[in-house]
Amino acid sequence: MEIIERLKERIKGDAVVTEIAKERDPFKVLVSTIISARTKDEVTEEVSKKLFEKVKDVDDLLKIDEKELESLLYPAGFYKNKARTLKKLAKVLKEKYNGEVPSNMDELLSLPGVGVKTASLVLSLAFNKDEICVDTHVHRISNRWFIDTETPEESREELKKVLPKKYWKSINNLLVLFGRSICGPKPKCDKCYEEIKELCPYYKKLKALKEVLDKYNFKKVSPKKIPDERGTYILKIKLKNGKVIKFGNHERFFKKGYYFYVGSANGKNINLKNRIERHLRKEKNKFWHIDYLLEHGAIEDIYITNKSVECEVAKELSNILEPIKGFGCSDCKCVSHLFYLKP
Ligand code: SF4
Repeated sequence: MEIIERLKERIKGDAVVTEIAKERDPFKVLVSTIISARTKDEVTEEVSKKLFEKVKDVDDLLKIDEKELESLLYPAGFYKNKARTLKKLAKVLKEKYNGEVPSNMDELLSLPGVGVKTASLVLSLAFNKDEICVDTHVHRISNRWFIDTETPEESREELKKVLPKKYWKSINNLLVLFGRSICGPKPKCDKCYEEIKELCPYYKKLKALKEVLDKYNFKKVSPKKIPDERGTYILKIKLKNGKVIKFGNHERFFKKGYYFYVGSANGKNINLKNRIERHLRKEKNKFWHIDYLLEHGAIEDIYITNKSVECEVAKELSNILEPIKGFGCSDCKCVSHLFYLKP
């Protein structure tokens, strides 16, 4: 886990909820975690501060009028829903738990507005228990580094197997801060720390991919400026959500993420312009398997080269990215011309 050690040397400071947790007050950790959902850190900080001046415990939360609570929670995302949830939460905490926040997973999960992510954070930060809170940042970055899962829940299970316990409580804070600043959904690898890049498997893939594009002189083009010349193209397709997609006589589950399709435009009357535009039009009559995927995914980037290198490129990409079966070509024996990269 050298990469975590190196990152710890770089990332200083605490996310808001971790800062609030220093008071070791489970009520405040629970409430601020609920406030933080779909809300920027600065807003969570401002709103929590305002709220905790007036609402210090479950009794205060029970007493406060829902409208007043709403105005204290504004401008947190979904502040009206959160006010309603917090009022329900106060009622359950008072009636079932004598005004205290329970300290085990099952009981926490039975509370209104509390899912596994919130419960894990409360257990680890407020009760100092060995738990891993997997939010979107922890899920994304740990998948880029050391696990291969589809959902945050699966990541939590996998991380418990691969991550030494000494990192369980701190990984959330570390990766939340790193994910917000550098390793976001679109990673800013050019701004990343050199020592992290050297250890990052995802960066190695992106670098190898770029090397292949450079080797064959691929350049990125806008859909409106595709030249009518022959050559090879790569479509980078983004699939927002995992989906079962039928193509030809087959069907398979396509995970959410990026797909790279390698195609060629070398026949008589066939050029890059008319071939790629046909993909872009999403025609009803599908001619290529890839067009079934394009019904659901969006072309994010188009790369072209005037070299006829479709199969060479496909073979090289199969050593870097995950080949998708069923997309091989009849001309060569390559595994596929479609490749997957996790987001
Ligand atoms: S090199 Fe890129 S993918 Fe790897 S940790 Fe840094 S930003 Fe994230």
